[in-house]
Amino acid sequence: MTTGAEVILKGVEVRFNRAVALPATDLTLERGRFTALVGPSGCGKSTLMNVVAGFQPLSAGEVLLDGRPIAAQSDRIGVVFQQYALFPWMTALGNVRFALRSLGLGRAEEKARAEEALAEVGLSDHMRKYPAQLSGGMRQRVALARSFVRRPALLLMDEPFGALDAQTRLSMHRLLSRIFLKAGATVLFITHDIDEALMLADRVLVMSPGPGRILRDYAIDLPRPRNPAELPHAVKAEILDLLHPAFSQTCPPST
Ligand code: ADP
Repeated sequence: MTTGAEVILKGVEVRFNRAVALPATDLTLERGRFTALVGPSGCGKSTLMNVVAGFQPLSAGEVLLDGRPIAAQSDRIGVVFQQYALFPWMTALGNVRFALRSLGLGRAEEKARAEEALAEVGLSDHMRKYPAQLSGGMRQRVALARSFVRRPALLLMDEPFGALDAQTRLSMHRLLSRIFLKAGATVLFITHDIDEALMLADRVLVMSPGPGRILRDYAIDLPRPRNPAELPHAVKAEILDLLHPAFSQTCPPST
């Protein structure tokens, strides 16, 4: 089992030319917690994630992973994006093995670990297939297997299930909850979908319209696996109100 990393952002600011994309932000991601980030389009969610991934140069501030600069520790970070980003010329197994290549494992161990990760996401029978032969949900399972096969201390996910249909999303939520409980990694997850955030996260951060500040920080203390019918409706209503105030103001309150 991995021990999740602690991530600390201190006064992090990002500007593109002179436009502020992310105003000065302080944030701690606690070890082994699953944090979801929601907010309107363009508020800076992806910028914040790129900062935490070490991809985005900072205009001010610093980001520490277990007390050391994050940029030097990319081998401890896994990322999953909405686009599958699998190598089309490699099989599912080849794609997952590729992620292990730089670890210098022996061939047998590399193969065994990749097969185990693919079994974990329910793809044992499809390991020899190429991405074009897999459904969208299966491709995203491969991407998930590829990201956790290295046992990252920090897993960053930017709308990973945004392109999937509702049923497939639901099964991905169950799968990710199971993997998260087992892996113990710290997770930062961007989504547009409030239900998805409440299904998966221990903590939901809500950002304001761009340049986004973190407006609210909700703790979601529900056991896993969660049932979509039992999500906290009051929290969902509050977040909807924060994200769409004009909408809620035009609707008379129900009595
Ligand atoms: P979100 O993920 O919440 O939709 P982004 O982080 O992608 O928001 O963008 C935040 C702001 O930064 C937006 O105004 C966007 O146009 C701007 N931005 C993002 N990336 C770049 C870039 N590479 N160059 C210039 N502006 C950018």
